Amino acid sequence: MKPLFFDSHTHVQFVAFKDDHEEVIRRALDKGVWLNNVGSQKETSEKAVMIAEDHEKGVYATVGFHPIHAEAAEKEDLEESVSKSEEFDYDFFCRLAQNPKVVAIGECGLDYFHLKNAAKDKQKEIFLAQIKLAEETSKPLMVHCRDAYPDLIEILRSERSRLLPDRPGISHFFTGSLQDAETLLKMGFSFSFGGAITFAGNYDEVLRRIPLDRLLLETDAPYVAPVPFRGQRNEPSFVVHVAEHIAKVKSLSLEEVARETTKNALRIFAI
Ligand SMILES: [Zn+2]
Repeated sequence: MKPLFFDSHTHVQFVAFKDDHEEVIRRALDKGVWLNNVGSQKETSEKAVMIAEDHEKGVYATVGFHPIHAEAAEKEDLEESVSKSEEFDYDFFCRLAQNPKVVAIGECGLDYFHLKNAAKDKQKEIFLAQIKLAEETSKPLMVHCRDAYPDLIEILRSERSRLLPDRPGISHFFTGSLQDAETLLKMGFSFSFGGAITFAGNYDEVLRRIPLDRLLLETDAPYVAPVPFRGQRNEPSFVVHVAEHIAKVKSLSLEEVARETTKNALRIFAI
């Protein structure tokens, strides 16, 4: 059976789902929603792979190192029981990425919003290492970027030859400018959007600009639930509300948005 929707970026392996992740996944699969659990460090990447292996179909994993973990996190963390900084361990992620359920490398990139110290260089170094990892494993990148699009684009441009030509990666929860979007589109990147678009009107213009064959759905659960679940814990089955908003903004039917975004995810993740 083919999925109806694809939540291309979610975190059901995070501690927010420690008591009920199987029920949450079951609710999604029962609604025809397939999902990709994205890692942020060693522990959450390993858990994502373990959960993917528990399911014959419909549950996949992305392994990598989120830029905010380049330094010790201050914020209370929904990802793990104890939030911690760690060194990027190339060999560990390279081994993990060999698993056939691993569909991308990330989430990786640059995040200057959460930056406390002079960690820009460290973030760049770890991002470059993950680009190398993506090349070595022939997988697309799952890119996270906040307040850092010029530096991110510069790195992707200079490393372009290492990226897969037909599916270099996904810019998840894109918050850059229209011009940044154009540049990334020209480089072959796709874009995933989540719950924020259902209540923050400033995404409508970029949604109209990005062609449907470059758009994907995500929830980024447990964060940022869409309307009408705003403020609650988010989960993959809510992804239909993201699709509904895209359909409205682009004047398309829900069926078309669901079908095309699912097709994009299956192509980029090579499922
Ligand atoms: Zn995420």
